[in-house]
Amino acid sequence: REAIVHDQPGVTRDRKIAETEWEGKPFHLMDTGGYIHKSADQLETGVTQQVRLAIESADMILFLVDAMTGITAADAEVAALLRRSGKSCILVVNKADNTARELGIHEFEGLGLGLPRPVSASLGRGIGDLLSEIVIQPVFTGEIPPAQDQGIRLAIVGRPNAGKSTFINTILGENRMLVTEVPGTTRDTVDVGLTWEDHRFTLIDTAGLRRKSRVRESVEYYSSLRTRRVVESCDIVCIFVDAVQEIAHQDMRVIREAVQARKGIILVLNKWDLVKSDEEKVRTWHHELKIRLRAVSFIPVLRISSKTGFRIRQVLETAIRVAEARSRRLSSPVINQMIEKMNRHMQHPAVGGKRIRVMYGTQPRCNPPAFVFFCNHPGLVRPSYKRFIENQIRETADFEGVPLTLSFKQK
Ligand code: GDP
Repeated sequence: REAIVHDQPGVTRDRKIAETEWEGKPFHLMDTGGYIHKSADQLETGVTQQVRLAIESADMILFLVDAMTGITAADAEVAALLRRSGKSCILVVNKADNTARELGIHEFEGLGLGLPRPVSASLGRGIGDLLSEIVIQPVFTGEIPPAQDQGIRLAIVGRPNAGKSTFINTILGENRMLVTEVPGTTRDTVDVGLTWEDHRFTLIDTAGLRRKSRVRESVEYYSSLRTRRVVESCDIVCIFVDAVQEIAHQDMRVIREAVQARKGIILVLNKWDLVKSDEEKVRTWHHELKIRLRAVSFIPVLRISSKTGFRIRQVLETAIRVAEARSRRLSSPVINQMIEKMNRHMQHPAVGGKRIRVMYGTQPRCNPPAFVFFCNHPGLVRPSYKRFIENQIRETADFEGVPLTLSFKQK
């Protein structure tokens, strides 16, 4: 879902490379801009150039054709290019959404690239089989250089003018930083790697959240999914809010999405230089945040000024703490001690005459942390009791900025 998917030729114009793996075998997946046949358009000619480049630099090529259109003149031309290249190639017929279309793909044998493999990319149909076939190809060595350790992947998101760029520039301006560029998560974003006090970070800059009303064109609309993808691809989301304004519903939406994706979350009230002398504004902020963040009170709230540099280091310091918390793992004895104490202090109210009792628990996963509690009637545990347990966990250990997953199982 990294590339922008849109029903219009020429949308994905640059090449993108993603590291991935199948059946434990790593490889790089390179997305080309597609090809556009005999076009006078300079940009589109450039895309065709990209395809040639991709063919040259790839070990194996997946040639994707469309079950709905059949063989086009452009397909035939690219097929000829591929046959001449002598590269290992798999012919993939997309949009084979149903059995009828799957049966109709034999036409594509005419391209001279062997048996066509039907898939439906949007439904996910046939993708697993295709991947399994890729990793057994003779050219597939399964060896790629290990990806550079990106450290903490920190997404900087927020509405336009919240001061994200200013923050990044100020923080990068500190000469103790070691900065490198890394390919961005999405088309128009830039990631920067930096080392700060022996900690590695990758800052993921985004184009900013867009207000729905401004998102008129459909490509723009898809672009607004970018923020979600950025959230998915990071470890910690820093949501930048202009402290002179109020927290917007888009900000709340991103917080919800980040909670759902179980990412570390930090809220940054930027431009605090404009607020800090205004006592009334400070009070309003306290009050409003308390109400709006009631359900997510574990999120740290920082007050900084990107422009003056006031407390900007706190963002990185907090990110380090949140990253540590996110990979924290409580041992079962610690959890069971907590449960014992809990049972002594607060009983779950009986439901339908049934007494509900949590016996023991464990934390099978960290990064993000997940807890499992074993009890006699898991289906009857009330949300209020879940919150109570979550609070107990947070009192037992520091999980600042980290959403927790709690599940209940039959003993
Ligand atoms: P972005 O759209 O989120 O990247 O926001 P920018 O970094 O472009 O900042 C938008 C505007 O806010 C610019 O005019 C900045 O100079 C200003 N700005 C950013 N951070 C601060 C801050 O901490 N204090 C003040 N007073 N202005 C800021």
